[in-house]
Amino acid sequence: MQKTATKKILDVKKVWKAVLAEMEVQLSETNYKTWLSRTVAKGLTDKEITIVFQNPHALATTDKLFKPMIKNSLKKITKNDYNLIFKVGNVKEEQEKDKPFGPLFDKKKTSKFTIEKLQRKSGLNVNYKLENYISGSANQLAFAIATSIAREPGSKYNPFFLYSGVGLGKTHLIHAIGNKVVEENPEKKVIYVTGENFTNELIESIRGKNKGGRSTDTFRKKYRQVDVLIIDDIQFIAKKDATQEEFFHTFNELYMNQKQIIIASDRPPEAFKDIEERITSRFKSGMLADIQTPDYELRTAILRSKRDDNNENVPNEVIDFIAEHVATNIREVEGAYLQVLAYVQSKKGRVLNIETAKEVLGNIVNEKRDRPLSLTTILKAVCKYYSTTQIDIKGRRRTKELVLPRQVAMYLMYDLTQTPYTSIGEFLGGRDHTTVMHGFDKIRKEVETSMNLRKDLMNIKQAM
Ligand code: ADP
Ligand code: MG
Repeated sequence: MQKTATKKILDVKKVWKAVLAEMEVQLSETNYKTWLSRTVAKGLTDKEITIVFQNPHALATTDKLFKPMIKNSLKKITKNDYNLIFKVGNVKEEQEKDKPFGPLFDKKKTSKFTIEKLQRKSGLNVNYKLENYISGSANQLAFAIATSIAREPGSKYNPFFLYSGVGLGKTHLIHAIGNKVVEENPEKKVIYVTGENFTNELIESIRGKNKGGRSTDTFRKKYRQVDVLIIDDIQFIAKKDATQEEFFHTFNELYMNQKQIIIASDRPPEAFKDIEERITSRFKSGMLADIQTPDYELRTAILRSKRDDNNENVPNEVIDFIAEHVATNIREVEGAYLQVLAYVQSKKGRVLNIETAKEVLGNIVNEKRDRPLSLTTILKAVCKYYSTTQIDIKGRRRTKELVLPRQVAMYLMYDLTQTPYTSIGEFLGGRDHTTVMHGFDKIRKEVETSMNLRKDLMNIKQAM
């Protein structure tokens, strides 16, 4: 076989890095930092290497004091004699050119602590990350768009409108975009707000103004001067005219300035009846994506990843069992998993296996309902769980012991049967539809944060 002269191709940056490492050891810290640390190597030919200095003074000093040392070091590393060419130039700019992919990889030296502070200030939950979001066929498109936006907010997919049923990962994903933007560009201003809080803040600001304040200006400034605006559960602004008006202008202002807008909703734009057409048509104008019900593989993957993140000792077979039997949405899958975990932890000596999981998850896993749920079935289950009576729930007394079960009943009735608020109100002793709506909303919100309540609901559902 013919031998070709394999001349080693040297990477000038790597060579210079190695030289600098040696210099750092050989010179005093001050000398190294002052004269050599801010340099960059540019050209490397057979005979010479070009080094760029930040200023003429550094160049002259190095020339005078360290040239022989550098030459020696170069020889040692490359086995070659080089002429050193010194130049003055923009070192920072040269260094920037070396970064492979622009801003996403141009990590600022901001500490994790500062980043998290900024994320919280933006209203973001720091635990919802792109890194712990598992993608599968149900959410692939949404995830790809989210990743792209996180890299370059405002450029391609604007607005981004994400919709799906509950518990499928919208909130997680849009927080994750915000968190990534802050992490990569701490100077960018990100705001996460729910449709509900947006509305409440607006109402507060109008009230402030009527008292002589200037707070609508403050409200506008806040929302119209962001780089990324994330609004979750936009459906909440339905029927709220003033909020829609304000939102419309905020949207236009941001859009015109190529600022990123991200919206999550429980339904696609065309399904809104109580949001003005001029707004829903804007939703449609950008990138739309939905998240589908996850398949078995995705459910398993998510649970396994949660388990590993939390270092929980749960065998795969138990995870697979849960994933197989809870097929509704991720929130419920997680709830079932936690329930199993809590059960085993509370009973000393119980082994965590499929049998225990079956025991805990009971009806969820082996019953398929063949007839629709009635309001009476739900009410019975609620009463049994809270040891109270139907008469009390339907009655007028408003003690704590009754208010919670009553609101839980409202929640479950609406959630599970979609019976109109008015009819649920009538059924529950002739209550007004706004009372039912309020009860439903209250529990819906609490479920997001209270693990106990989630467990209660699961137990009640099992008993139906
Ligand atoms: P939604 O806003 O659509 O109701 P959430 O974002 O609140 O849903 O998701 C419910 C739960 O499921 C959260 O704990 C979230 O972390 C988790 N989850 C949903 N999808 C995923 C996923 N693809 N990877 C990891 N966790 C997920
Ligand atoms: Mg959500």
